[in-house]
Amino acid sequence: TTATMDLKQHIRGIPDFPKPGILFYDISTLMRNADAWQVAMGRVTHAVAPWAPDMLAAIESRGFLTAAPLASRLGCGLVMLRKPGKLPGETVAHSYELEYGSDTLHIQADAIVPGQRVVVMDDLLATGGTLAASIALLRKVGANVVGASVLVELTALGGRARLDVPVRALVSYD
Ligand code: 5GP
Repeated sequence: TTATMDLKQHIRGIPDFPKPGILFYDISTLMRNADAWQVAMGRVTHAVAPWAPDMLAAIESRGFLTAAPLASRLGCGLVMLRKPGKLPGETVAHSYELEYGSDTLHIQADAIVPGQRVVVMDDLLATGGTLAASIALLRKVGANVVGASVLVELTALGGRARLDVPVRALVSYD
């Protein structure tokens, strides 16, 4: 039944993707199953609603897929955090270090009214680098970041400790 559904049964671990030695947790199979996806979105809605966000900030690209139905259920707005060269108009950028090299996220400069309560969303929390950078970017444009929400947390990587906002995860793996 809905209340007891084990969402882990709908998430696959795929070895050696995108590189040898990496176990990639694939949410495609969760999204593909109408009942499981419905249950997942219902649970995320319950987890995030108490933060009373004005806006969800979605991280490209799997964050888009989780944040859009959630914003619709919560009745709040949705703003995209995107890779360079994707957003029209004036943008604000934040660069961050990866294991090899660096990456940059952009937001439209006028996307947030300063002080708005924002919850940032992604599919998965690993080292926390992506969410930490997203929170820093949102603060540059005046957001009050009140929480972070993910479907999957890889707890052994300690990502949560890098974030200075509360984090809610639907499922976690050691
Ligand atoms: P972090 O920055 O926390 O180390 O990595 C999280 C980011 O990498 C997220 O944007 C997420 O989409 C992606 N990512 C890393 N590992 C996985 C994985 O196993 N499965 C999925 N679906 N995404 C991952």
